Amino acid sequence: MSLPQFRLLRPHTLDEALSLLANHGYQGDLHSVRIVAGGTDLIPSMRQKLFEPQYVLDIRHIAELKGIQQQGTGVEIGALTSLTSIEHSDLLRRRYPVLTEAAATVASPLLRNMGTIGGNICLDTRCLWYNQSLTWRKGCGFCIKKDGDLCHVAPGGTRCWAAFSGDTPPALLCLNAEIEIASPSGLRRLPLHEFYTGDGVAYRKLQPNELVTRVFLPESTADYRGIYRKLRVRGSIDYPLAGIAVVMKRSNGHVADARLAITAVNPAPLLIKGASELLAGKIVDEALAEAVGNLAAKTAKPLTTSALTPEYRREMIRVFTKRAVLAAASN
Ligand SMILES: Cc1cc2nc3c(=O)[nH]c(=O)nc-3n(C[C@H](O)[C@H](O)[C@H](O)COP(=O)(O)OP(=O)(O)OC[C@H]3O[C@@H](n4cnc5c(N)ncnc54)[C@H](O)[C@@H]3O)c2cc1C
Ligand code: SF4
Repeated sequence: MSLPQFRLLRPHTLDEALSLLANHGYQGDLHSVRIVAGGTDLIPSMRQKLFEPQYVLDIRHIAELKGIQQQGTGVEIGALTSLTSIEHSDLLRRRYPVLTEAAATVASPLLRNMGTIGGNICLDTRCLWYNQSLTWRKGCGFCIKKDGDLCHVAPGGTRCWAAFSGDTPPALLCLNAEIEIASPSGLRRLPLHEFYTGDGVAYRKLQPNELVTRVFLPESTADYRGIYRKLRVRGSIDYPLAGIAVVMKRSNGHVADARLAITAVNPAPLLIKGASELLAGKIVDEALAEAVGNLAAKTAKPLTTSALTPEYRREMIRVFTKRAVLAAASN
């Protein structure tokens, strides 16, 4: 499958990138420009003609958006930092282990060398009816997410349920991460849980003239135990079909604080509401871990967007959550 024709824009500074976005982001056509970082998701999608932008803005050469730094009491990660750098960062492994664990499960080593944290956060939602070639999609009459007006997964409905399938966002949600977004009119900072909309098409709150520049991890969640578990078909190189991140801090054997988030079973990665309250002040045992697993399974709303059945994926959220909670609470 060949790439569609486009013009490549190659800024070397953030200012240059923003002025190119200001000139090409809005042309009356919201998709006139697409940002590429590592390209590990965008390029295959462009080959499938899911995106046919007039311009591609290659931000890889913006050095100021790379690297992991202690910033005050927290940690700042540039959006162009590779997943490999995150996986091997001593600082992150020591202070935010759930993030290094989640990053280490993304795709394969080669894709992690190219793939960036910004690209992982901004990853498009996925569906069996969408991540296909143009010929395949045409044969099925297209769908709401691209070029059509019906959903094959939830026929009769008017919205898209494609699943958000990134591995690091649930870990970042547990860590209370914030992201910085730059646009020609300045910088804004947003808690990550406010970035996702829950809609499979317009899945993130990002204007065509904006880009994600940094991720901030607060001191308040540093040094928590962290566990990430994911279900995938091929262990060596696959998107999650269900994923769960857990962070936990204990004091004298009791849970002082804990947060859980799931991925790949809804159109957005989600924090599990009520899980922190359920765990707070308790000693974790099988029954409590199972109750948290049940809560996570209730939050998961998988549909037939992937190769494994929704029932199995929901069940695996329950099982993985229980195991992850027990692992996070073990000495
Ligand atoms: C075979 C295969 C297996 C994979 N398995 C996994 C997996 O297990 N887990 C997983 O999470 N991912 C997986 N991926 C997807 C991908 O490799 C990763 O998500 C990676 O982190 C994407 O980062 P990137 O820099 O390559 O993004 P790109 O492909 O460059 O971009 C992805 C999207 O984000 C946008 N974007 C990128 N950077 C920014 C930015 N700074 N600001 C605004 N928008 C931006 C792009 O416009 C595009 O829409 C897989 C991909 C392949 C091909
Ligand atoms: S969930 Fe429905 S609308 Fe969305 S990509 Fe799948 S088939 Fe298309």
